[in-house]
Amino acid sequence: MPRWAVLLSALLAAHQPTQAAGDAALAKRVLMNSIAFRTVDGAGQVSRLAAYYASILRQAGFADADVEITPMGETATLAATIRGGDPAVKPLLLIGHMDVVAADPADWTRDPFVPVEEDGYIFGRGAEDNKYDVAMMVATLAGLKRGNWQPRRSVILLLSGDEETHMATSRALAHTYKDAEYLLNGDGGGGLLDEEGRPVLYQLQAGEKTYADFEIAFTDAGGHSSAPTPDNPLYRLARALGRIEAHRFAPMRNELTQTSLMLSADRIGGHAGEAMRRFAKGGNPKDADFLSDHPEFIGQIRTTCVATMAQAGHAPNALPQSAKATINCRIFPGVPVETVQAELAQAIADPSATLTTLDHPVGSDASPLRRDVVEAVKKAVAARYPGLAVVPAMSSGATDSLYFRAMGVPSYGVSSLFQRGEDGFAHGLNERVPIAGIAAALDQWERMVTALSR
Ligand SMILES: [Zn+2]
Repeated sequence: MPRWAVLLSALLAAHQPTQAAGDAALAKRVLMNSIAFRTVDGAGQVSRLAAYYASILRQAGFADADVEITPMGETATLAATIRGGDPAVKPLLLIGHMDVVAADPADWTRDPFVPVEEDGYIFGRGAEDNKYDVAMMVATLAGLKRGNWQPRRSVILLLSGDEETHMATSRALAHTYKDAEYLLNGDGGGGLLDEEGRPVLYQLQAGEKTYADFEIAFTDAGGHSSAPTPDNPLYRLARALGRIEAHRFAPMRNELTQTSLMLSADRIGGHAGEAMRRFAKGGNPKDADFLSDHPEFIGQIRTTCVATMAQAGHAPNALPQSAKATINCRIFPGVPVETVQAELAQAIADPSATLTTLDHPVGSDASPLRRDVVEAVKKAVAARYPGLAVVPAMSSGATDSLYFRAMGVPSYGVSSLFQRGEDGFAHGLNERVPIAGIAAALDQWERMVTALSR
């Protein structure tokens, strides 16, 4: 190799993000503008938001053919591609979602769909979930395109349009783009700041529990309430719910929860810290039970099922003809939905009950903690906060990643948002994000994307 080529390749390898600061203004503008699109379920605004993102990408130099909007009912998906030089390597996918959870302006201090900048925060529905990271990804790819960046691996930004509700767009995207090397999801993981705004840790989300709803129902012929019978469906339901409450699924651990429990143990300390450490190492049932008594830990220890809704009877003076309840389960990765259903039926121990699975839950196992991904994320986070712990995590909620993992695409939640615990208002009132982190967030995305597409 001639000397100039050695120098050139060294220069390329040491590609230092330079766009980030310049693009911060763009990212902030994109975030604020996107909040103004009321992309709630049924409002038909997602395609308009997609068209807005597409216009930003085209202005940065994306060819028309490389930005694709696909309508799906009242919503849509977007796919934007930076083509890689080597067609033999599989693409890197980035994903986020354009839709938001409904918000009633009457409940909010500020109009949820009018972006407001105040006290260093941007307020609005979707400011955090998920328009923050979507804006960061759009601005990052726009910056890279403007710099005429040429990756070896294709990079494809995917935006879903009903992640918060039906997830039909999520399923469609996973089906179309299943032949990918890996996926980075802006809607998962992320950084935690303490009250003073100092970094505490960064979570790299590599697994999600499976979401499943079951309905348990009892029926009877009913009759006059003056002549009670022993078959009253309400009493049978009450007994069944009592048994479900008392039932505990077996404690489980995987690579993710073991690592994250060990790291949290040091941070939390005390009795809980000791129990976490022992449980992570193979532990005894007592530790699992102790941790399960704490709502903040139980989701990491085992599958959980809880009664969330109930409906029974038709008149105050009639014996009920039916009684039913919804049981919501968060299933440990890798455990089939049918296994949980069978275990629930066994716990209920009443052959007169019907137990049905609602909708079509999709299970997925955790993604392996790939060295290349972990290294890239660690480096990108270290550039913002040197020495900060990057903790692998399993979340109890479901995101688009679920469908990609089910298709065999390793998927990682790597949000660029760092926020204080008390500032987390995703899905809630007065959702907001700090403005100060935007430049560093762009830098984090650019480092992760460039490292994983070499
Ligand atoms: Zn989300």
